[in-house]
Amino acid sequence: MDGLIGQSDGLIRLAVFAGVFLVMALVELVWPKRKLIVSKRKRWLTNIGISVAGTALLRLMAILAVPIAAIAAAFYAQSHHIGLLNQVSWPQWLKVVIALLVLDLAIWAQHLASHKIALFWRLHQVHHADRDIDVTTAVRFHPVEIGLSMLWKIVVVVPLGASPLAVFLFEVILNACAIFNHANVALPAWFDRILRQFIVTPDMHRVHHSVLRREHDSNYGFNLSLWDRLFRTYTAQPKAGHQGMTIGLTPYQSEAPTRFGWSLWLPFGPQRRNIDSGKEKNGG
Ligand SMILES: [Zn+2]
Repeated sequence: MDGLIGQSDGLIRLAVFAGVFLVMALVELVWPKRKLIVSKRKRWLTNIGISVAGTALLRLMAILAVPIAAIAAAFYAQSHHIGLLNQVSWPQWLKVVIALLVLDLAIWAQHLASHKIALFWRLHQVHHADRDIDVTTAVRFHPVEIGLSMLWKIVVVVPLGASPLAVFLFEVILNACAIFNHANVALPAWFDRILRQFIVTPDMHRVHHSVLRREHDSNYGFNLSLWDRLFRTYTAQPKAGHQGMTIGLTPYQSEAPTRFGWSLWLPFGPQRRNIDSGKEKNGG
């Protein structure tokens, strides 16, 4: 299994990504939750362009002999018997479950940090500047944030001793869940209620894209909804309702976030304050 992952994990991940993306894009076209306010063509070009730039950056770093890939780190830890889970002879399935849980918590914590630490917020606000939320918002992450996220995963994977299979599964699940919970899809309320007991639903994650700081500083989860309940960062619904809420960031309610160059430059330019209810953000 590990051999198969080592040879074709990139291809399998791309296939799953494309499949989930196409299905959810179709579903949100048929059952949209909100009417989109920005030109879809411009947004999609920019959001997908940002994603391609991130992938290109990781590839370029690999060519320059600095491969930063969590799966490669898992192979390294396994072959050198490094990391907690590589020391114990527990059943393989149990080790995979533990690794999936720890990685999910780690990504939750990284997301929290990217909202609380000004330097990281500079990068992460590129994701939040999107004024609509749909399947392409899921891939709108600044290339530097993608690189840092990969480094963070490696920092967790090696001491944990997560297997290549666990890391592969985690990346596939994270990708699929991110596309699902960013989709502009109207799920029946009863279905959402049941589903969000376990995983992050589109309604739960939409709260996180509100312009209001108390709302976008909550619901940090991407896969399991457990962490936000456990750490009391859970907001059930947006105050203004899903139709009335404003998506994006207060200082950037213009067409600027639909521009590719503007979006990539945003972390490095002068920062505007995001003010609501007397609270400030973006100061650093
Ligand atoms: Zn966020």
